Amino acid sequence: MAYRALYRVFRPQTFQDVVGQEHITKTLQNALREQRFSHAYLFSGPRGTGKTSAAKILAKAVNCQQGPAPEPCNECAACKGITEGSVVDVIEIDAASNRGVEEIRDVRDKVKYAPSEVRFKVYIIDEVHMLTTEAFNALLKTLEEPPGHVIFILATTEPHRLPATIISRCQRFDFRSISAKAMMDRLRYIAATENVEISDQALALMSRVSEGGMRDVLSLFDQVLSYSGNKVEVDDVILVTGVVSQSVLAEVTELVRQKNASGLLEVLQRVISEGKNSEQFLNDLLMYFRDLLLYKTAPKLDELQHRLMGDDQFHGLSQSFTHPFLYSIIEKLSKVSQDMKWASHPKIVLEMGLIRLLESEGNSEQPKEAATNASVEDLLQRINQLEQRLNQVGQVAVSTPAAEVMETPRKEAMRRVGMPSTVRISENRIREVAAGSEPEGLRKITGLWSDVLNRIKKKKIQVHAWLLDGVPVAVGSGGLVVSFKSAIHRETTEKPQHRQIIEEVLQSVWGQRLDLLTLMENQWQEIEATTRSTGASEPQGEENKEESDPFLDEAIKLVGEHLIHIKD
Ligand SMILES: [Zn+2]
Repeated sequence: MAYRALYRVFRPQTFQDVVGQEHITKTLQNALREQRFSHAYLFSGPRGTGKTSAAKILAKAVNCQQGPAPEPCNECAACKGITEGSVVDVIEIDAASNRGVEEIRDVRDKVKYAPSEVRFKVYIIDEVHMLTTEAFNALLKTLEEPPGHVIFILATTEPHRLPATIISRCQRFDFRSISAKAMMDRLRYIAATENVEISDQALALMSRVSEGGMRDVLSLFDQVLSYSGNKVEVDDVILVTGVVSQSVLAEVTELVRQKNASGLLEVLQRVISEGKNSEQFLNDLLMYFRDLLLYKTAPKLDELQHRLMGDDQFHGLSQSFTHPFLYSIIEKLSKVSQDMKWASHPKIVLEMGLIRLLESEGNSEQPKEAATNASVEDLLQRINQLEQRLNQVGQVAVSTPAAEVMETPRKEAMRRVGMPSTVRISENRIREVAAGSEPEGLRKITGLWSDVLNRIKKKKIQVHAWLLDGVPVAVGSGGLVVSFKSAIHRETTEKPQHRQIIEEVLQSVWGQRLDLLTLMENQWQEIEATTRSTGASEPQGEENKEESDPFLDEAIKLVGEHLIHIKD
């Protein structure tokens, strides 16, 4: 059977299944029980909160051959036909896609005819705020004197864009963002039905990033499942969503508490080298500080309890800040977020912003350390000077995305090997392999590479997924060097159990043992260049250093040399 998306499979078919909107479903069910229907309903609320699902269920409940009943039976011809969309009397119109002029004119012409298959003609108009003025006027005419056999259900994410004349003719229901708890309960139910094992932290993170939208969280769940198989951990969700993990955010927060500027910049660099973008990082950090403030203010808040499930560091961190300090951090981060939108170099703005977080002194409940503060002030002063210089002088370009960093040609001030990474590279061994690598051997392993990948895939599909990012760049002296674009792919490939699988496959394909040696692409460029030019196997020192420029040196000290390249 073809794969069907979770949000289709688990689309609610009864009011009971509509998650987190009990205030609405109860009211509708009471009306159904007493057979008091309105002829026009307005369902408003954020996307993915169940508006159109509830509309379809209502259409079935009024038309069910066993009803009208508080729940549709979902068994009779009417219910089944409406679920499939084959009943001509239940008409769904998407106002967003065609703005509805033709359809609404059609509605006005045909609304007077009695339904042919079921009890009530039901018009479901989604994103109704998108209708043209002309279509609104036509709709209004119909709503003024609706025939008894017609029910309109208007759905919208933006009720404020509807004319008051329309709203006043409808019974209005406001759908809420789905609470973390309701969402996690539903996900747990779906996981159990699908035989998926999933950790609480993974559930909490999925509901956090989906911000109350059920359709979003189910699409995300689909993606995570296609990646992770039937056992889902929080790391899988982090990888698929690109969010920054809670532990990294806690680390950043701790560094803010310690007023450790260089530590902050190092973490930022690490996060970006793992392929996250600056905006995502800032957004996640902002949410984290907001949660700290919420937690400090109302630690028992239900929503928060669920979102923070399994995060033990949180309590301690929230205790080490005062309210005013947290307010000021959140304000500063919001400002950085706005500045970044217009910046040509958002990462620089973010770096400056992070350092500015340390400016507010005396607000943290920690004792101040005079020496650290002095160096922070010094740093800030230097940043101000640097910013002025950046505005005045055109000859230094500062690049932002990680990809660009890697593409920066060697001659442009790339003096040290690679970016910080938690897994060290065996530089001497790599140089040895590089020195012994012949073009013929490299051609051979490149030709065999898809075979290697296929065999690994059969042994363990995740290892295959990680290794896909790698490219064989040198083979010889009993070793194979593979270069990676993404640090997280490289690091996960290096895990002992993964390395073992890869080396076993390499041995069977290559015919003799090959040690797997990995490094980042830019590290390889550096090693390749120096190995070729000198043939030496010792690491290269600083002798290639360009002529010194005091301003450039200053900039490098502040933002790291990997961010700066000189335009000729
Ligand atoms: Zn039925």
